[in-house]
Amino acid sequence: MIPRETAQTIVETARINEVVGEFVSLKRRGVNLIGLCPFHNEKTPSFNVNTAKNIFKCFGCGEGGDAVSFLMKHEHFTYPEALRYLAKKYGIPIQEEEQTPEMIQQMNEREGLFNVTEFAKNYFVDILNNNDNGRAIGLSYFRERGFSPAIIEKFQLGYCLDEWENFTKTAITKGYNADYLVKTGLSIRKDDGTLYDRFKGRVMFPIHNLSGRTIGFGGRTLSSDKKTAKYVNSPESDIYSKSKVLYGLYFSKSAIVQQDSCLLVEGYTDVISLHQAGVENVVASSGTSLTTEQIKLISRYTKNIVMLYDGDAAGVKASFRGLEMILKEGLNVRIVLFPDGQDPDSFACSHRSEDVQKFITENAVDFIRFKSDLLLKEANGDPIKKTALLKDVVSSIALIPDEISRSVYTTECSRILDFPETVLISEINKILRANFKKQFSENAENDVPIETHGRASLQQTIEQPIDINEQIATAERGIIRILVNYHQSEISVTNEETDEIEKRNVGNYIFNEITNDELTFENPLYNLIFQAFSAGTSALSEVEGQLIADSYFLHHENEQIKQLTIDLMTFPHTISENWEEKGIQVKKECEDEQLFRIIRGDLLQFRLYKLEKMIDDVREKLKNELNEENLQILVADLAKFQRGRAKISELLGRKVTK
Ligand code: ATP
Ligand code: MN
Repeated sequence: MIPRETAQTIVETARINEVVGEFVSLKRRGVNLIGLCPFHNEKTPSFNVNTAKNIFKCFGCGEGGDAVSFLMKHEHFTYPEALRYLAKKYGIPIQEEEQTPEMIQQMNEREGLFNVTEFAKNYFVDILNNNDNGRAIGLSYFRERGFSPAIIEKFQLGYCLDEWENFTKTAITKGYNADYLVKTGLSIRKDDGTLYDRFKGRVMFPIHNLSGRTIGFGGRTLSSDKKTAKYVNSPESDIYSKSKVLYGLYFSKSAIVQQDSCLLVEGYTDVISLHQAGVENVVASSGTSLTTEQIKLISRYTKNIVMLYDGDAAGVKASFRGLEMILKEGLNVRIVLFPDGQDPDSFACSHRSEDVQKFITENAVDFIRFKSDLLLKEANGDPIKKTALLKDVVSSIALIPDEISRSVYTTECSRILDFPETVLISEINKILRANFKKQFSENAENDVPIETHGRASLQQTIEQPIDINEQIATAERGIIRILVNYHQSEISVTNEETDEIEKRNVGNYIFNEITNDELTFENPLYNLIFQAFSAGTSALSEVEGQLIADSYFLHHENEQIKQLTIDLMTFPHTISENWEEKGIQVKKECEDEQLFRIIRGDLLQFRLYKLEKMIDDVREKLKNELNEENLQILVADLAKFQRGRAKISELLGRKVTK
C-alpha cells in the first residue's frame, strides 16, 4: 500500500508534459503543447497537453486525464503501478514495508505477474554473470556472437541453467506464487502438478514494454539438435500481448523520434547487433509476423519505416505482406535487402559501424522500385508476366490512403516500368471505384440512403420544439461546471428577504440551493459529482471554513468524476455556448457579483426546466386518469407546479408562454 499522503505528493509533483513527453513527441502551440494522439489513429495532431492545469485532452477521441490516468491508459498500469512509476521518475521515496512471502501472495494479479517477471529477469542476468555454468555456457555464447559486455548489460541478457527446476524452485522459495509462474509461462505445470523451467538451457532475451518493465522473454537454445526449437518465447499473458509489442522499442524510441525513421528487422539479435553498431532506431516484430497494431505503435513516433531483410526468398516474401500493411496504414515504407546469406545481425557484426549506417542509407529503395525490380527480374521480358507485374504494383499503390502520395508513386511507377501514366491512373481509379462500391453496398444494407436521411432529419429539426430534456441537460451541466471550477470562490449573495448582501462560498451556496429544494440531476454522473462534493465538504466540516482542495475533483479516485472534470475545464470546445454568451472569462476574475448572477440564473433555469418537465408529466397522467381522488391530487399538483413556474419566470424576468 502506498500511503495516502505519499500518493498526494506524487500526483502533485508529476508534470503532465514531462510524463506524456516520454511517449509522445510534443510541440508547443500557444500556451499548450500539442502532438499526435497515442490513443487513436490520426494524421493531424489533436492531442493537447495543458501544463497550467497539468492535464491532457484529445479533441479527436476524447481521452483525457492527469499524469496518472495517462499512464494507466497508455501503459495499462494499475493505479498503484502508475504511482510507483511516477515516484521513481521524480525520486519520491515510498515507505513500504519489506515484502514478506504473505504480502507477495496478496498483491493483485497483474502486479504479481510483473513482479515474477522482473524477478526472473534479474535471476537470469545473475546466472549469466555470476554462476560458473552461466558464464561458461551463456556468457561465452554471447561473447562469441560478438556482443560486447556493455550491450549484454543494456539489453539485460541472461541465461537459464540447463537443469529442470532451478529457476522455479528459487522463485517458489522466495515466496513467488506458483500460479503466476505458470501464467507468465516461466514454469510449465506437468500432469502430476509439479513445475519445471520453460527456458531450461537457453540464453534469455527479456522483452520490455514502453516504460522498460520486463513483460516476457525469448529464449534461444544452445543445442545444435535439430529437433529442439531454436527460439522459445513467453506465451501471451495479462502483461504480454505479442501483437502489440515491438522488441527493442523501449531502447529505440528516442532515436526513432530523433531520426524520424524506424528500421524494422526480424528478431532479437538483429536489434541488438545494430544497436552495438550505433544504429539505434530499430525494432523487431519478434515472435509474430508484423501486425497492424505494431505498425500503429510505430506511427506514434514516425511515419517512415525502413524494412531490413535478408536476401533469401522467405525474407522477401515476408516483406511483401508487411509492406502492404504499412501502406494501408498510410505510412511511408522503404526496403533494404542485404546481400545473399546476410541478415542485419551478421552484416552489422562483420562491418564497421559507419559502413552499416551507410549501407542502409544507400540501399533503401521505395516499395515501387523494390517490387518492380524484383518482379521485372522474374518476368524476364515475358509480356504476360509483365502485365501481371503491373497489376500487382498498381494494386499496391491503390492501398495508399493519401491521394498525393498515390500520384507520386504512380509517376514513379510509370517511369520505372516504362508505361504510360494515364493508363496506370485509370487502372488505379478502377480499383478505388470497386473498393468504394464494395464499401458502399456493405453500408447500404443497414442504412437508409444518405440523401433522404439527411432531408428527413433537417425537417425534424425545423418542426420539433426544443426538447426539454436537452434544456435540463444544459442547465445541469452549467451548474456542475461552476461547482467543479469555482467551488472555492467567494460570491456576494443578495439575501432575497432582507435585501442585504452577504459573502458566501460558491460550493456551499450551490449545495444548499440544490439540497433545500431536494433537486436531483437527471444525469447520474452529475449526481455522482454532487455526492462526491458533499462527501468531501462534510468530511472537512469540523474545521470551520475549510474547503476541499482545488484539485479535489481533478484527482478524484473515481475515474468517471475525473474524466468529467477534465471535460468541464477550460478547453475551448467544452465551454458551453451559454457561458460564452454571458461573456464570462474563464478566469478567477469572474468572482463576486457577476459570478453570483450566473449561478443564480443557472439554478433558476434548472428549477424552471424541472418544473416544466413535471408539468408535462402531470398533464400526461391527467389524460388517462379515471379515479376521481387521483384526479384531484393531479390537478392540485399541476396548479402548484404552475405557480412555481410563474414565480421563477418572474425572477428570471420573462413571461410564461404556455
Ligand atoms: P544463427 O546464429 O543460426 O544465425 P540466430 O539466433 O541469429 O541464429 P536466426 O535464425 O538467424 O537466429 O533468426 C534471426 C532472428 O529471428 C533472431 O534474432 C530471432 O529473434 C528471430 N527468430 C527466429 N526464430 C524465431 C522464433 N521461433 N521465435 C521468435 N523469434 C525468432
Ligand atoms: Mn542469425
